[in-house]
Amino acid sequence: MTKVEYEVKNLDCAGCAGKIQHKASTMAGVLNANLDLYKKRFVLEIDDLFEEELFLHQINYFADSIEPGTEILKMAEYDEEEDLKRRKEEERKAELQEKREKIALIAGGTLFIGAILLGNLSIQLKLILSIIAYIILGGDVVLKSFKNITKGNLMDENFLMTIATFGAFYIGEHTEAVGVMLFYKIGEYFQDKAVANSRKSIEKLLDIRPDYANLKNEKGEVVVISPKKLKKGDIIVIKAGEKIPVDGVVIKGESTLNTSALTGESLPVEVGVNSEILSGSINGSGVLEVRVSKIFADSTISKIISMVEDASNKKAESEKFITKFARYYTPIVVISAIVVGAILPLFLGNFNTWFGRALIFLVISCPCALVLSVPLTFFSSIGLASKYGILVKGGNYLEALTDVEAIVFDKTGTLTKGKFKIDKIESENYSEKELLKVAQIGEYYSTHPIGKTILAQLDDDIDEAYIEGYKEMSGFGVIAYYDGKEILVGNHKLMREYNIKADEREYPGTVIYIAQDGEFLGYIYISDEIKEDSEKTIKELSRLKIDSYMLTGDSKKIGEMVGEKIGMKRENIFTHLLPQDKVSKLQEIIKRSKKKVIFVGDGINDAPVLSIADIGVAMGGVGSDLAVETADVVIMKDEPSKIVELLKIANINKKVVIQNIVFALGIKILVMILGVLGFANMWMAIFSDVGVSLLAVLNASLGVKRYMK
Ligand code: ADP
Ligand code: MG
Repeated sequence: MTKVEYEVKNLDCAGCAGKIQHKASTMAGVLNANLDLYKKRFVLEIDDLFEEELFLHQINYFADSIEPGTEILKMAEYDEEEDLKRRKEEERKAELQEKREKIALIAGGTLFIGAILLGNLSIQLKLILSIIAYIILGGDVVLKSFKNITKGNLMDENFLMTIATFGAFYIGEHTEAVGVMLFYKIGEYFQDKAVANSRKSIEKLLDIRPDYANLKNEKGEVVVISPKKLKKGDIIVIKAGEKIPVDGVVIKGESTLNTSALTGESLPVEVGVNSEILSGSINGSGVLEVRVSKIFADSTISKIISMVEDASNKKAESEKFITKFARYYTPIVVISAIVVGAILPLFLGNFNTWFGRALIFLVISCPCALVLSVPLTFFSSIGLASKYGILVKGGNYLEALTDVEAIVFDKTGTLTKGKFKIDKIESENYSEKELLKVAQIGEYYSTHPIGKTILAQLDDDIDEAYIEGYKEMSGFGVIAYYDGKEILVGNHKLMREYNIKADEREYPGTVIYIAQDGEFLGYIYISDEIKEDSEKTIKELSRLKIDSYMLTGDSKKIGEMVGEKIGMKRENIFTHLLPQDKVSKLQEIIKRSKKKVIFVGDGINDAPVLSIADIGVAMGGVGSDLAVETADVVIMKDEPSKIVELLKIANINKKVVIQNIVFALGIKILVMILGVLGFANMWMAIFSDVGVSLLAVLNASLGVKRYMK
C-alpha cells in the first residue's frame, strides 16, 4: 500500500468535500481517501490498480460538478521560495476576496435596512431596493447554482438557497428573501473567519519548525543555512535564544534548554558536553557547539510535525458517521420540502401557506454545522494535546481513549525512572574496576536503561575496534565479542541459557550477572527509583474506574515491590516476562476486557506490545525510533501522569462533539417541526442554519480549550 497526496484548490464547502472524498474512495485502485479541507490536501491510499492520470481526470470532472472551480492537482515539487511566493499570492487573493465580500455585505445590508425603513411609503421603491440588495448579496450564489444545475447537481447548497429565496419573492415575502440571503452571507463570512482563525491558532501552536542553522565550515567560519541542508557529523553553533535545528550531541559549551515545545513543560533542562539535544527546544543563555547526529528529516521536530499533520488522516468513527450522515441529510430534507410544499397542498389546499413552509426546509438543508465542526473539534483537541507534549496520531485514537477499561504499564523506564545507580559490585577473582570494565565492554552499544547505567562512568581505555560482535537479547541481556572473548551481561536467565553456573542472588533491586568465555565473573547490584508521579497516576486511574496492570521482565520481588508501593493490586503485577510473554499476557488482558486496553511503555523492547494494544502509548518520545513509529500516542515527557491528562482531553473532545451534534441537529429538527406546524418563519430557519453553524464552529475551536482550564 502506498500513499499519494494531491493539492486541492478552490474548495470551501465541507459537504462537497465529503462527496468528493466518497467518490474517490469508490474509484479503481483507491483503498482509502481523505480530503482535508483545512490543509487543502487530498491523501489517498492506493494499490497497483491506481492510475494517476485517469484518477485526476475523473475526480476533477466530478469535483467541478459539485463545486465549480475546484481543482485537484499533483503536488508541486517542494521549493521553499516558490512555496513562500505561492502562499503570499494566496494570502493576497484571500484578502482581496474578503474585502469584496465585506463591501457587498455592507452595501447590501444598507440597502436592505433602507428598504425596511421605507415601510409602506413607496412599495415600488421598496421592491427595487430589495432587488438591488438581493443581487449585490446573492448574485454569485444564484450564478453558481445555475452552473451547478446544468451539471445535474440538484442538492447543491447554492441552488437550494436560490430556490428558497426566489420562492420567498414569489409569495411576496421580499424582506425575508433578502434577509435570508444577507444572513446566509454574513454567516458564511464569519464561519470562514472562525475556521481560518482556529486553523491559524493551531498552526501557531505547532510553529516549532526551526528556520535556519549556523553551520561551522572547515575554515571555522559560521554560515547560515537551511536546517534541511545539514549532514550527519556537521558541526553547528547554537546561540542564545535560538531554536535547536536538528538533533545532535553537544561538543562544546554549557547552557539550559527550554523544551516546552516538545514536552509541554517549561522547566529548563541543563546541558553540557556529551548531552544529547533535540531539535525544537530553545537554547537558553549559553552558546553551544553541536555535532549533528540526525538529519532534519529524521530529527525529533520533523517527526512531531508530520505526526500531528498526519493525524487528521485517521478519522474517528464519529467523523466518518457525520460524513455519511451528511450524504443522506440533504436529500431527506429536500424531499420533505417537496412533500410539504407540493404534496400536502394537494390534499389540504392553501398552496401559498404550504409553499412558504417548505421554503423553511430548504434553508435548513445544509448539514454544514456538523460537517465543519466535528472534524474541527478533533483537530483542535489533537493540536491542544500536542501543546501538552502528547502527540496523538489520529482522531480514531482520541475517540478510543474515551472508552478505556485497563491500562497496562511496563515497569522499567515507564513507572520507574530507568536511571539505575550501582549499589555494589561483587566478584571473587576480579577487582570491582575490572568487573565493571568487562560489563562496560558488553554493554558498549546498549541503549537499555541498565546498559546506560553501567556505561555511565565509562573508562576511556575500551577500544571500540576490538568489539567484534554485539547482540541484544530482549529480556535477557546482552552478548558481545571482544578481542576474541565472549562476554555475557544480563540476568540469571541469561546465565542459565548459556549453561553458566552462577548462584542466584536476591536483592531489592536488579542483579546483573557477568560472564566471560563460559566462566562466571561476578555481580553488579543496581537499583532504580520510582517516578514521582507514578503513585498519583495509579490512584487517579482507579478513581476513574480504570484498572492498572504491570508487565515486567524483572524479578517478582522487585516487580511486586514497585507495583504495591504505587498502589497496584498484586494480582495485576506480572513478572519475569520475556518480550513474547508480554505479548501473550497483554492479549489475555485484552481478551477478557470489554472495553479498550492501553499499553504504556518507554519504548525499549516494547514495540510488539505497543502494536497489539488497542492504543499503544510510547513514553519518553525519544526512547526508540521503532516505538515512536509503532505507537498510536507518543508522550514526549517521561511522566506517566500525562496519561491522565490525555484521558481528560479525550473526554472533553467527546463532550464537545456531542454538544455540537445534539445542538445542531436538535435546533434544525425543532425548526422543521415548528415549520410544518406553521410556528417557524424564515428568520428562525436562517438562524438554525448559519447561526447554529457559526456557534458550533466556535464551540469546536474554543470548547476544548475552555474546558482544560
Ligand atoms: P522491563 O520489562 O521492566 O522494562 P526489560 O524487558 O527491558 O524490563 O528487561 C528485563 C530484564 O532483562 C531486566 O530486568 C534485566 O535483568 C535484563 N536485561 C535486559 N537488557 C539488559 C541489558 N542491556 N543489560 C543487562 N540486563 C538486561
Ligand atoms: Mg522497559
